[in-house]
Amino acid sequence: MEIAELKQQLAAVTAKAFDCAPDACTDAQLYHALQALTRQLAEGRPAPQGERKLYYFSAEFLMGKLLSNNLLALGLFDQVRALLDGMGRSLAALEEYEPEPSLGNGGLGRLAACFLDSIAALGLPGDGVGLNYHYGLFRQKLADRRQCEQPDPWLGPDSWLIATGRRYAVPFGGFSLDAVLYDIAVPGARSGIANRLHLFDVADPAQPPAHGIDFDKRDIPHCLTSFLYPDDSDYDGQLLRVYQQYFMVSAGAQLILDELAQRGYTPDTLSEHVAIQINDTHPSMVIPELIRLLTAGGMSMDDAVAQVERTCAYTNHTILAEALEKWPLSYIETVAPQLVPIIRQLDQRARQRSADSRVAILDGEGRVHMAHMDIHYGHSVNGVAALHTEILKNSELKPFYDLYPAKFNNKTNGVTFRRWLEACDPALSDWITARIGPDWKRDAAGLEKLLPFADDPDSLASLLEVKQQNKRRLAALLRSRQGVEVDETSIFDIQVKRLHEYKRQQMNALWVIYKYCQIKGGHRPPRPITVVFGAKAAPAYTMAKNIIHLILCLQQLTESDPDVRPWLHVVMVENYNVSWAEALIPACDISEQISLASKEASGTSNMKFMANGAVTLGTMDGANVEIAGLVGPDNIFTFGASSDEVISLYAQNAYRPLDHYHRPGVEYLVDFLLTPQMLAIGDASMLWPLWNDMKYKDWFMALLDVESYIAAKERALAAYEDRAAWAKKMLVNIAKSGYFSSDRTIAQYDADIWRLRPAE
Ligand SMILES: *Cc1c(COP(=O)(O)O)cnc(C)c1O
Repeated sequence: MEIAELKQQLAAVTAKAFDCAPDACTDAQLYHALQALTRQLAEGRPAPQGERKLYYFSAEFLMGKLLSNNLLALGLFDQVRALLDGMGRSLAALEEYEPEPSLGNGGLGRLAACFLDSIAALGLPGDGVGLNYHYGLFRQKLADRRQCEQPDPWLGPDSWLIATGRRYAVPFGGFSLDAVLYDIAVPGARSGIANRLHLFDVADPAQPPAHGIDFDKRDIPHCLTSFLYPDDSDYDGQLLRVYQQYFMVSAGAQLILDELAQRGYTPDTLSEHVAIQINDTHPSMVIPELIRLLTAGGMSMDDAVAQVERTCAYTNHTILAEALEKWPLSYIETVAPQLVPIIRQLDQRARQRSADSRVAILDGEGRVHMAHMDIHYGHSVNGVAALHTEILKNSELKPFYDLYPAKFNNKTNGVTFRRWLEACDPALSDWITARIGPDWKRDAAGLEKLLPFADDPDSLASLLEVKQQNKRRLAALLRSRQGVEVDETSIFDIQVKRLHEYKRQQMNALWVIYKYCQIKGGHRPPRPITVVFGAKAAPAYTMAKNIIHLILCLQQLTESDPDVRPWLHVVMVENYNVSWAEALIPACDISEQISLASKEASGTSNMKFMANGAVTLGTMDGANVEIAGLVGPDNIFTFGASSDEVISLYAQNAYRPLDHYHRPGVEYLVDFLLTPQMLAIGDASMLWPLWNDMKYKDWFMALLDVESYIAAKERALAAYEDRAAWAKKMLVNIAKSGYFSSDRTIAQYDADIWRLRPAE
């Protein structure tokens, strides 16, 4: 569409809605009009056709704002930017009026969103299936150096939801509840098609809670879709999660069989015409539910099991034992009693396949191991980075790998470069296109063509200028959103991700203490450093909240110390989400990816940072390993124990944090938590448990790696001072990032697992 035509269409909307021309509209009105127009164009696109259709089941879809993304997919992004520019407006200003859909928690949900984007861009028939949480995970407030949780209502008059009018009755024990289907259109870049994200909801959702995020967890008919991951530290919370999961998969399975029939196919051809991807274990009950529906329709148990096994595939996202769901069968007896005989059957059949009790579905305590059900009754099990998949095969899921070697495969995660480079970093995108043309937008592997510019001083200088521009943009945002003033000439060192001990924000906090003490001792760094944190802690995860408290105490400590403040600035952004990520990542110099080796399955922010010219400071964990392989040792700063070392420390129960604590470079950092100056700012009831845990437990081995972390960070900070050499590292990172496009990942899922064979 040409700019003139676009302006005409926009004018038609604003005339009707506000009785005025676009130029006379407020930003809010203009957003409304542009959203309505974009939505209409996306929904008007045809669905792709094909022999086989994918349904991607996920408890989370962390979509982010949709306006820019959809404009890109519709091929209108540049025109809209130019049009708004001509009117003296900006897309970024309009987007401030778009609420961010709050349907995810972290990387797993963001992966699902990137995948939908790439599936549509590749023209493949594939819809998402999830739940329409009204108040999201929660909105984080930082007050009194603590995290407070509030509901995050995101559904407003300008939402992207389409009411389909379809509903399915979900049979729970003792009552039935209608699942009402809402859709969000997912237009594909350059493919001309649109898929759908299907979000099921209750018919009569509850109002937001009166206090924080507390609500009546037993009020299933109204509260089932109130929150993502409601607190499950008690029985009612656990049961609610099982209700959510069954609601999602039962409605989703009914939708699948419905669409199969609409396409003119019989249930005995399910696996030829349907592929189901189970994203982590939350949707695992889709397996027994489909078997239930197929057998209820007259299919034999043997045939139903065979159909479902050929249809379903499972993605594992973690090796943290506590995250692999095991629901007591008694819960399922309460929520969906009709599944119990089927799960018992599946357990019996699995025992015939293997006598090894480690691969049983039901354990001695009457719990259902959801992942085990997925592996026995799916045809594919994939890890999400090369190292992660090797760990699954060789240790975590080894008995399963021995039983089903052919089911195991790796699909290294990716991110959509449309959102994570083109949309969030237009300056860098233009810089790239000016050098290698626009082909990289079609195929991110083409970014390699940038490599020859690593020796071009002008290109390197202008690359640094682009980064500076993005740092200025972030500084403005920090000023307007949080009233924080950051030094644009400082190094931006950024760690943003869910708060978890394995991700080791606490180790970064120890570095802050190190640097604080250095500066107090007269050793100033060559240049100021801004350390940015962004993280939500699960509401019931006490230690994670203690770590947030520590970071906020350090923020106050450094801010209020005139010796330190000009050189070291700690900033914690409030309510880290996709919109924050889109502003932070383009402005980053040093990307903190410091998880304990073997614990981060892949990570995806590491990929986004790399594509935006940040240099990784990281452990050899998850996809960091692949990043290091691609960019080479000169263009990444790695440190810490290897995954093999860590796995063997766990296996032999040989890690002794006290031994490390007593090293001279470590003890004062840990003890700093309990110094009078810290206790004057912070709360001993949060700092003491943290100190005690680090010293005596330290399950994720921060003290094992902290010294090599500090040394590596010093190397990175020193390297930054050679500006041309640093720009070269940035360039190599950008040039090599194309491998991490989710278009590549999805092409591999399709080739190896889904085989969707879209119609030409
Ligand atoms: C990419 C992304 C994540 C995942 O970050 P990791 O560092 O890989 O854990 C989490 N949250 C948001 C908002 C993201 O955009």
